Amino acid sequence: MKSIAEIRRDFPILERKIGGNPLVYFDNGATSQKPQQVIDSIVHFYTTYNANIHRGVHTLSQGATNAYEEARRKLQKHINAAKSYEVIFTSGTTEGINLVATCLTPFVKKNDEILVLTTEHHSNIVPWQFLCERTGAILRPIPIDEKGMIILEDFKSILSERTKVVSCQHVSNALGNVHPVKEIITLAHSVGAVTLIDGAQSCPHFTIDVQDLDADFYVASGHKMYAPTGIGFLYGKEVWLEKLPPYKGGGDMIKTVCFDKTTYADLPYKLEAGTPNICGGIAYGVAIDYMHSLGMTNIADHEHALLRYAHKQIHNIGGITIYGTNDLDHKAGVISFNINGAHPYDIGTLLDQMGIAVRTGHHCAQPVMDFYHIPGTVRASFAVYNTLEEVDRLIEGIRKAIKMLL
Ligand SMILES: *Cc1c(COP(=O)(O)O)cnc(C)c1O
Repeated sequence: MKSIAEIRRDFPILERKIGGNPLVYFDNGATSQKPQQVIDSIVHFYTTYNANIHRGVHTLSQGATNAYEEARRKLQKHINAAKSYEVIFTSGTTEGINLVATCLTPFVKKNDEILVLTTEHHSNIVPWQFLCERTGAILRPIPIDEKGMIILEDFKSILSERTKVVSCQHVSNALGNVHPVKEIITLAHSVGAVTLIDGAQSCPHFTIDVQDLDADFYVASGHKMYAPTGIGFLYGKEVWLEKLPPYKGGGDMIKTVCFDKTTYADLPYKLEAGTPNICGGIAYGVAIDYMHSLGMTNIADHEHALLRYAHKQIHNIGGITIYGTNDLDHKAGVISFNINGAHPYDIGTLLDQMGIAVRTGHHCAQPVMDFYHIPGTVRASFAVYNTLEEVDRLIEGIRKAIKMLL
């Protein structure tokens, strides 16, 4: 792998100073920074071959179409999907989940059950509530233990022939916990339920194999994995994508349109109406290449080393509660904590004055905060360009904040 110093040079934003201090960017769980390669691909697209895709015979349109479809194949390889048309471009995780929850409407009836983890991001709760309102189905949270891990025994006991959907995060954005999704999927399938995995926090950090997991649907966002905002993917097994009705109507998703009847295009276009985020899709492909040039295992190992170091150092400060599992083998590069007696918002504000960007608040996962009876947490989340020295800056910042607040 490139050295961390070399990797950091790929990310121009890391040269910024905040309040005179070099930026420490620890808000990667919200969005990652973008390497020059991705930024260049955006400029290159708009300066040399910007055109709409799938409809022009001219050179620019063919160039754009080829690059966009090439990006789809890169994603296919990245998650080991069997077919490239099982990868649907979306605007992000939120859209992917909304698409599935909307298109599953005809398959769900009154009193059917939809199970999600207690620690889900709101985008894996609210679309299912909409589905329940439409169909009379019931949304049930899967219990977690005090470390925020799924309780498999409880999960087994609430699974039944009424369970129609199990939708579960792979990694918690609020706690960093990595859930045993392969086991969850197997159990869900044993009662005939369809499964969706929210991979927004897993795809940036480690290799995903959707076939090995046997996931029916898997979703993620580009912007948390070094690509721009407004692009993401939905993986679906061919059998499921074939069964789903179209999500949106419009151009590109049709075969023939007349006023009596419209026939739909084949996959993946059936589920991709309208002009997509072409440039974003192409840049997503470049981001995937970038990650593979570093090596997914190297990325995971580096982030894990940061997590282990940060966990130990934060723990050593004393007077701090760390949320989520202590079993760091089942935790991705996210650490969520509170200084006892201080409000997370105040800590975040003080850290920002020292140039350290962390997230504070409920992290779009209010049920997790209710579970712990807290208003929110301070969350540091790591990416491949972060360093141990930056963790030291955080530790020093926390110590200063404690002196100022307590
Ligand atoms: C960020 C995130 C989402 C939502 O992703 P968007 O990019 O905002 O659509 C969903 N689930 C998890 C676990 C997340 O971290």
